[in-house]
Amino acid sequence: MVNKITFIPDMEGEYFETNYLHDQAEADNLYLAILRKSEPVCVSSTEEISIIPPITEALLTQKVYLEFSDSKSHKFYEVVVKQTEVVINYGRIGTAGQSLTSTYPTVEKARLAASKKIHEKLKKGYVQTVKNKRDLAENKDLDISQFIRPAWKPLVKSGDDSLLSSKFGGRPWLAENESWPTCPCCGQSSSMQLFLQLNLSKLPEAVTREYGNGLIQMFECTSFDCQGMVKPAQVSYGRVAYLVSNVLIRMISPTSEAAMPPLPQVYDEYEDFFPATTILGWQEVEDYPEFEDLVALIYGWDQVGNETLKDEVVERLGFEYLDDLRDFFPTVLGCKLGGYPGWAQGMECPGCPICQEPMRQVFQLAIENDSSIPDMFGDGIGHILQCQSHKHEFVFVWAC
Ligand SMILES: [Zn+2]
Ligand SMILES: [Zn+2]
Repeated sequence: MVNKITFIPDMEGEYFETNYLHDQAEADNLYLAILRKSEPVCVSSTEEISIIPPITEALLTQKVYLEFSDSKSHKFYEVVVKQTEVVINYGRIGTAGQSLTSTYPTVEKARLAASKKIHEKLKKGYVQTVKNKRDLAENKDLDISQFIRPAWKPLVKSGDDSLLSSKFGGRPWLAENESWPTCPCCGQSSSMQLFLQLNLSKLPEAVTREYGNGLIQMFECTSFDCQGMVKPAQVSYGRVAYLVSNVLIRMISPTSEAAMPPLPQVYDEYEDFFPATTILGWQEVEDYPEFEDLVALIYGWDQVGNETLKDEVVERLGFEYLDDLRDFFPTVLGCKLGGYPGWAQGMECPGCPICQEPMRQVFQLAIENDSSIPDMFGDGIGHILQCQSHKHEFVFVWAC
């Protein structure tokens, strides 16, 4: 059996690689090899999705603290790796709990054992809390945890599943008699390609009703000759947001029969039509706001850009330097659903053309280093933004 193991980006979003492996032992060895390099990774097999949680140096040198709460119990589970030793503390929240120490032949094996333990607990519903990270910041009068938002990294496989799947590239669902959407700028219907399709009924439960119903589709014109790439937003927060105009983002209800028009011919810098990468599932991660989003959340959107408040926020969260705040509470890079925009050049948040309210992120597209997804953006990072009240209002902001 050939098992495809995909390493997906972790919080830092820096690593992506797909490997074809024959058995679990081979997968474990590869995983060990990556741990030796201290690469922060998650492992997911697309045959049978199993995710080992991100291992980072920070996580291994401090500790991983998990909690589980339901109507019956409130438990904690803490894992510390000290060289070849794995120390586990567990028990009822509020008690000291019990301690268990195991020794392994090598540091790597200790790390692997620790990450498997963590994985087991996460599968049982434990969640990693920021207790330890939060404790790092002393003398704080603001708690960063109130700004945590979930985001979801896509778990993918190459190839097309169905017209209704969530996917990058490939064939979109099109209504009966509908042809491929044409470019609003150059009208070259032949070159509009599907970048992303989200089936809103297949999103994580927390957001199944958040963005609307049906499908969200984003097409972009990839024609080399296409003009009119960006236009300034009428209303924007932070720096002036430039909206990419040769895109189509829409929400549609797949109620009729689907159309299967021939694939468009693509005449552009790309060699070919983007092949599909299907999104099979989602992995939840904790997301933290970029600094200017934090200012907006604490003091209001009209205060974004207020330099005095910038220092104040860092101080109130218990840090001396902005970089430390960013290191400990990063905005998730790479592709993700929801969460906070990882602005490449500072906040460029457009307002809704109808109500002028700042638009929020539905999806962040950043394909860099992602070997299984077509190279759509080069170095850049794109944000599909939507008005929370006017769910048919979408924009695409891109920066690098
Ligand atoms: Zn065009
Ligand atoms: Zn609106």
